[in-house]
Amino acid sequence: MSVVARTLLGPGPTNPYPEATAALAQPLLGHLDPAFLTMLDETCDRLRAVYRTDNSRTLPLSATGSAGMEAAFVNTVGPGDVVVVGVNGLFGLRMCDVASRCGAEVVRVDASWGQPLDVEAVLTAHPSPKLIAAVHAETSTGIRNDVAAIAAGKGDALFLADCVTSLAGIELAVDEWGIDLAYSGTQKCIGVAPGLAPFTISERAWARRIERPQSWYLDLGMLGGYVGETAGGGGRTYHHTAPTAMVASLHAGLGRILEEGLEAVIARHAAVGKSLQDGLQSMGLELFAALGHRLPELTTVRVPDGVDSVAVRAKLLHHYNIEIGAGAGEFAATVWRIGLMGHNARPDIVTVILGALGEILDNRA
Ligand SMILES: *Cc1c(COP(=O)(O)O)cnc(C)c1O
Repeated sequence: MSVVARTLLGPGPTNPYPEATAALAQPLLGHLDPAFLTMLDETCDRLRAVYRTDNSRTLPLSATGSAGMEAAFVNTVGPGDVVVVGVNGLFGLRMCDVASRCGAEVVRVDASWGQPLDVEAVLTAHPSPKLIAAVHAETSTGIRNDVAAIAAGKGDALFLADCVTSLAGIELAVDEWGIDLAYSGTQKCIGVAPGLAPFTISERAWARRIERPQSWYLDLGMLGGYVGETAGGGGRTYHHTAPTAMVASLHAGLGRILEEGLEAVIARHAAVGKSLQDGLQSMGLELFAALGHRLPELTTVRVPDGVDSVAVRAKLLHHYNIEIGAGAGEFAATVWRIGLMGHNARPDIVTVILGALGEILDNRA
């Protein structure tokens, strides 16, 4: 049976819309080819559409989602700057690590894994932080954090949202909510191979950026010309060689999403996530993420007592061609993570995974 292509269900691996995969197989364009430059400009326009922003500085950085995180911090945070970070999973922890490497004074506001961040606690953690940061969709726990509420209460601080697993999966409105900096990855709900970090920065954050960041490659001040916008209004400047195949793939994947309609794509993720979560509970399984804060695109479920988590995942992979993730951190053996992102956010995939998991769990009883 080849309905479900292998490695398409887990939260980490590639999860391509067919259009994005087909684009990778096209003849390569040179990085200075006018056809490529047009495609790059259109890709930036499409990113503005999915981020729901007018930010002129919206572009795919040439590296994975974590480079988006690093670019956000290294361009806005210097030694001694106070940064408040909400932490309720692996990616909040990573933000603390990156901010501290920039020399920031990190004020960490923890919530239990599987629970949402306490918005008030984040907003009152420090009287005058330079930056507040939070993860919108915590892929490690399946929790949606209320970044709109944090952005609304940011005051004079800049607000940074990790949108790696939220962009094109759940509602996100960068301008309307007041998010100053956001980054994403291509391999989550955008459904393209990993390798680019869609990035956006507001005028407000741009005005407060570090003049000479401790990174050459991720210095956004040098990237303007790369995406066709230069201070003097001149042409493009060479910064680095664009990964043309990846940009072509992202261009096609975003085209697919906008053709279906962003609202429709988000509604599709919501519907299949709910039906997976309902189905798992009907089987007697217990969901891990707190009710009311569950992500549709990444479901966390507790491994039943006495069940070997690794053996079940191996059976899913080898007998059914389905990959799901282990839990993160201390929940590695006690939680499973099931991704329904991009192309995989479909009702037939829900049927297949519920059927396979049910068969495996029944057979051991
Ligand atoms: C996957 C992920 C990242 C890291 O992205 P990479 O592409 O693996 O570097 C960061 N934040 C969140 C929330 C993620 O899910």
